[in-house]
Amino acid sequence: MSEAVAFAVAARVGAARSGRLVLAHGEVATPAFMPVGTAGTVKAMLPQSVEATGARIVLGNTYHLMLRPGAERVGALGGLHRFMNWPHPILTDSGGYQVMSLSKLRRIDEAGVAFRSHLDGSAHLLTPERSIAIQDLLDADITMALDECTPFPASPEEAARSMALSMRWAARSRAAFRERPGYAIFGIVQGGVYPELRRDSVRQLVEIGFHGYAVGGLAVGEGQETMFRILDETVPALPEDRPRYLMGVGKPADIVGAVARGIDMFDCVLPTRSGRTAQAFTRAGTVNLRNARHAEDKAPLDARCACPACTSYSRAYLHHLCRCGEILASMLLTWHNLRYYQDLMAGLRAAIAAGTLDDFVAGFHDAQARGRAAA
Ligand SMILES: [Zn+2]
Repeated sequence: MSEAVAFAVAARVGAARSGRLVLAHGEVATPAFMPVGTAGTVKAMLPQSVEATGARIVLGNTYHLMLRPGAERVGALGGLHRFMNWPHPILTDSGGYQVMSLSKLRRIDEAGVAFRSHLDGSAHLLTPERSIAIQDLLDADITMALDECTPFPASPEEAARSMALSMRWAARSRAAFRERPGYAIFGIVQGGVYPELRRDSVRQLVEIGFHGYAVGGLAVGEGQETMFRILDETVPALPEDRPRYLMGVGKPADIVGAVARGIDMFDCVLPTRSGRTAQAFTRAGTVNLRNARHAEDKAPLDARCACPACTSYSRAYLHHLCRCGEILASMLLTWHNLRYYQDLMAGLRAAIAAGTLDDFVAGFHDAQARGRAAA
């Protein structure tokens, strides 16, 4: 396999690592959090604002973009970076997960997933080959193999059947990927909550050979304890010299725990979605700005945060905007939440580099617990 994508681990503490990933559109310091840009935009944020939070890679959703405006159209307009004015790296998902969660009349067989659009009812067939072709048209720096996200709960037999299908699709995805410098394709480990299936999935993916490896099918209702147990069983089996991505995770405490277990990359809608529903993540835990106790509070949301919401406005004003349903509430709180997530990742990277990750993790949990006690 070619070494088209450079990934270098610079420091380790236990299983945790910090490093950098060099892609066609730039470098990404790891561990990294990827804001979700569902329909070619991180909702309520200008790309320059996303950049100002510290993010250097965002996630684009194949399912949404293939239906509207269409992958061929984005390709003809110069690719997703130019289309959305985001010059840094982009990872696209395969579309499979959202086909299963959003579309109607879907049917999975060996070929792929046949479905009808949730927008206009039009019929589509998403095969591994088509998913890779779409991600190529979008010009994704990181392409994801098409997989079936095994539902939770699933019996061992169901999880094994689903994982086997995902591994056959992984081989077809890898074969369809157009190799070029700075562009990567990641395989996705499945196997539900069954360690032996997870390790079997890793073996099959490594045999095929990918530039990076994702752990899929977690954060689907199994709970943090089970998720960490599966990571403990799965991550040590993954190649040391390739980036590892935990898909769809998660809450700040999930990310801290997964970094300690050797994960390098994350994505989640939580900071952006919460920013549109008056929920803010802070060093002292989650704050609901709709709560009346903020109505006369002159203090900033988080005194240690450098985002515009915290440096220029009071909790009382943010509360007022949320109560009025003002668009500015979504803008400021999304900015704050993304800044909080990026600061958390920067803190984790610095602590790994300094060899002080254990102190950082203890401090993180202490501050969150003190915030809960004060709330
Ligand atoms: Zn802030």
